[in-house]
Amino acid sequence: MKMRKSLGNATVAAQASHAIDPASGAVVPPIHPATTFARDKNYKLTQEKIQYSRDDNPTFAHAEKVIAQLEGGSEALLFSSGMAGVATIFRTLNEKDHIVAPSKMYFGVVHWLKHFACKSKMGLTFYDPAKPESLERAIQKNKTKIVWVETPANPTWEITDIRVAAELAHDAGAALAVDNTVSTPVFTRPLDLGADFVFHSASKYLNGHSDVVAGVLVTKDQNEIWEAVKWERHNAGSILGPFEAWLLLRGLRTLFVRVHHSAKSALQIAKHFEKHPKLERLLYPGLEAHPAHDIAKRQMTGGFSGMLSILVNGGAKSALEVAKHAEVFIPATSLGGVESLLEHRKSVEGPESQVPENLLRLSIGLEDVNDLIADLEQALERVTVS
Ligand SMILES: *Cc1c(COP(=O)(O)O)cnc(C)c1O
Repeated sequence: MKMRKSLGNATVAAQASHAIDPASGAVVPPIHPATTFARDKNYKLTQEKIQYSRDDNPTFAHAEKVIAQLEGGSEALLFSSGMAGVATIFRTLNEKDHIVAPSKMYFGVVHWLKHFACKSKMGLTFYDPAKPESLERAIQKNKTKIVWVETPANPTWEITDIRVAAELAHDAGAALAVDNTVSTPVFTRPLDLGADFVFHSASKYLNGHSDVVAGVLVTKDQNEIWEAVKWERHNAGSILGPFEAWLLLRGLRTLFVRVHHSAKSALQIAKHFEKHPKLERLLYPGLEAHPAHDIAKRQMTGGFSGMLSILVNGGAKSALEVAKHAEVFIPATSLGGVESLLEHRKSVEGPESQVPENLLRLSIGLEDVNDLIADLEQALERVTVS
């Protein structure tokens, strides 16, 4: 039988890039907790570039290699959290540089960026991902250095067209970075669509078991920003520990089945509750009624993610009642784990938040979808205000 030219992404993930330990033949890679690596009689390192674990550790290098392959990038770097990765890429910019980012996206990034841009005397313009024309207006020729896109965007799931964003960014001399945490490389590979960098909170789907906090940046090519990102991680040392990297590597092996299952259940749930009388709206890019469904269909191949939101009739009080009565869904923050979570974002984000007060974000896990549907039905049934 002839081998395919390159292996499918599901194969790369399942085998952790064919992870056979050369020392023992083990099909699971070992964990390397060592901080330092010995030299031989000629004072040569056993493996070039593996010297000290602030930057070179075989365990996190392995996870980085797998993620770079899954995203089709030339290199990936892991960080101690998603936010550490976000901070690292923006810290490569200089005073008076300009940043463009979506007005609706993961709240932690909005919150940090505002503070950072102000303190570092950088320009920051938000575009509205529900109004595609606002992106072009936000970008400043030869001044904007990074255009940041999150698609689908937390927690209202607007879609940004990555191809269009890449063209606009490049025309202005800026780089495009895409937060691909929600879609994952299973459904979207931003680098193939013209992006320069991909970011993930690996605490979410990549690890997938709600037991590791980690971040990762992937680059398409070696370029000035990437050199600065590497310098920063090497010297400032915001690395992931080897045990966490090993857990992440283990989580990645089931990425494809987990993400496909979650997205399939999410679509079923979205269709079931789309017209529910207790709901004002249901937000999910997989529904034909979603304003950017066509773009989503084009750039998310095989599914629309496991994330959706419901707007409950009757305001914050009724949304919180649903959270209170849920028995299967767990009321907690975060997303992308095996267990389904439900979250009232407004309570978590606080007064600065733009999120509707009656919105509940749902992260669909791997449970029996009929249990999830029945749970939401009974919780909505018990809402007294309307
Ligand atoms: C969680 C998350 C982050 C932040 O990552 P941490 O690992 O929590 O630091 C950034 N972007 C998105 C879309 C996220 O969901």
